[in-house]
Amino acid sequence: MHPIVIIGTGLAGFNTVKEFRKLDKETPIVMLTADDGRNYSKPMLSAGFTKEKTADDLCMATAEKVAEQFNVDVRTGVHVAGIDPDNKRVLLPDDHLDYSQLVLALGADTWTPPLEGDAVGEVFSVNDLMDYSKFRAALEGKKTVTILGGGLIGCEFANDLSNGGYQVSLVEPMGRCLPLLLPEPASEAVGRGLADLGVTFHFGPLAKAVHHGDNGALVTELSDGSQLESDVVLSAIGLRPRIEMAKEAGLKTNRGILTDKTLRTSAEGIYALGDCAEVQGHVLPYVLPLMASARALAKTLAGDTTEVSYGVMPVTIKTPACPVVVCPAAEGSEGDWDVEADGNTVKALFRGKDGSLLGYALTGDAVSEKMKLNKELPAIMP
Ligand SMILES: Cc1cc2nc3c(=O)[nH]c(=O)nc-3n(C[C@H](O)[C@H](O)[C@H](O)COP(=O)(O)OP(=O)(O)OC[C@H]3O[C@@H](n4cnc5c(N)ncnc54)[C@H](O)[C@@H]3O)c2cc1C
Repeated sequence: MHPIVIIGTGLAGFNTVKEFRKLDKETPIVMLTADDGRNYSKPMLSAGFTKEKTADDLCMATAEKVAEQFNVDVRTGVHVAGIDPDNKRVLLPDDHLDYSQLVLALGADTWTPPLEGDAVGEVFSVNDLMDYSKFRAALEGKKTVTILGGGLIGCEFANDLSNGGYQVSLVEPMGRCLPLLLPEPASEAVGRGLADLGVTFHFGPLAKAVHHGDNGALVTELSDGSQLESDVVLSAIGLRPRIEMAKEAGLKTNRGILTDKTLRTSAEGIYALGDCAEVQGHVLPYVLPLMASARALAKTLAGDTTEVSYGVMPVTIKTPACPVVVCPAAEGSEGDWDVEADGNTVKALFRGKDGSLLGYALTGDAVSEKMKLNKELPAIMP
């Protein structure tokens, strides 16, 4: 009997193993990962200074410990080259591995803007614990950071680095904080909270180039002609599900690797979950959906085919300077924002044409209304 093979040791791969071992202690499992396989919670990467934790402090278990605890064979530093669904094989750089069932928990790649300049190679992005170790090392003894992108990751890092004593400049072409998640008054509240910590915003222009300046500084050139000097530049522009390997193997992909509600891809015996997956049209790169997926998939892998359902899944954004919780309406929902604002306390309700609540964004003291509103919201995917 060939093993179950899981590609990825992020939260999606790890939780699948954890849930599966509750049901089946013996079936052989091989986990493959391109990184060092340490178990950590990725959301904590943008709270290291606030929680006073280094990269190593964020490691909850080494790959060896995970292997022992869950009776799995964890192979680290292995970059999977491809998959061969017809022969049920994973292709490794100089070898192959046969599987009985295959789980793709590949995550998402950071998207870096097409920058010019002789210091482009020094722009950081933080998408795993190994990236974070390098980023923290680069910050040692430095004072100023330019962040490209004012979405969830950019705003969280702006808050965290400010808490760590860094002077932060943030560039966001869409003109406000969290532009894709929040209505304008809520964006403004977050912007004020971060500005009070000392964050300087450059709303409107795009970053065009990063050059070496004098005395080891980096100079970020913006499309409006201005130049920002800083010690370190962090790009937090966006993430794209890793779909290439699946696509090359002939699996159906769209924005993510397409699956049905049982997390099954278009190929027999191959499943996908987490940031790489598009589950019946839903691409939800957050922890709550992947936990629900891992629970359902564990049952399916153990022989009891089970559909995942997504209930109400609020996202808490880690900007303590202005707390935010948001429950985006399902994509394509029609409706309008109804906003009550009082300073940095904003209660924004997204209502459909019939007045029903479809989503919300809460900032400041209004976050305390989260539980009550969750009860009124429809499930994302019942
Ligand atoms: C800074 C930051 C803060 C966040 N904060 C929050 C938050 O507060 N709340 C929330 O809900 N979500 C948050 N998120 C999102 C959340 O962390 C992700 O949704 C989740 O961690 C994704 O897990 P994953 O296992 O799908 O992917 P990943 O953790 O990216 O794991 C992918 C795995 O696949 C492996 N892999 C990929 N390709 C190959 C290959 N070819 N060969 C071998 N291995 C391969 C990688 O090595 C890795 O082990 C945050 C994300 C970031 C970056």
